[in-house]
Amino acid sequence: MKIYTIPDTLEALIFDMDGTLYTHPEYVRFQIDRLIQELAARRCAGFTETAEAIEAYRKNWAESHNNQQVSLGNVFKAFGVSIEESIRWREELYHPEAYLKADPKLQKTLRTLKASYKLAVVTNNPVLVAQKTLSVLGVEDCFTAIVGLDTCKVSKPHSAPFLKAAGWCGVSPETCVALGDRYDIDVSLPLRLGMGGVQVDGVEDVYLLGDRLMNLRQSN
Ligand SMILES: [Mg+2]
Repeated sequence: MKIYTIPDTLEALIFDMDGTLYTHPEYVRFQIDRLIQELAARRCAGFTETAEAIEAYRKNWAESHNNQQVSLGNVFKAFGVSIEESIRWREELYHPEAYLKADPKLQKTLRTLKASYKLAVVTNNPVLVAQKTLSVLGVEDCFTAIVGLDTCKVSKPHSAPFLKAAGWCGVSPETCVALGDRYDIDVSLPLRLGMGGVQVDGVEDVYLLGDRLMNLRQSN
């Protein structure tokens, strides 16, 4: 876990979902590969050829953007797949229940955090996929706001979904902290919006969050 900043007054925690509220590299890989497969079919091209074209695009993008990562949704936009299509593909093709299961440790953690903070999810997956994922993990009742790709029709990193989450929680951005496993996608922009930011290595770091926030509070 890397804590960048935590606001002095903390009212809401805005979580990324995939790779943050669960750790499952195989499922994360599946989500990427399944969309590439769909794009390959659209282009009447092979999977490997399409995957290589995407990789080359990402590499070029990073080189011209100070080595930052670009989200898959934005990569697909560059390949002619609209955000609306990305939303539909993900809704149809992703079945979190095939990979994930209830996580009692996460349930305990989020229920504890929920007593002190508003909790939100901001994900580049559609809200439907987020709801299914949170339901499988057993934490769907913990969140005040779920902001997905279909909420603002833009992919993170973009200010709109983060500001929407803060708004739905009824708090100002400066009292939020954004948490996620990818700095460029989940943390960098919220920091520029005046939010706090925490990069996690996976859900194992989220389990430790209650204690870390409590310690920070006591040391302030
Ligand atoms: Mg993630």
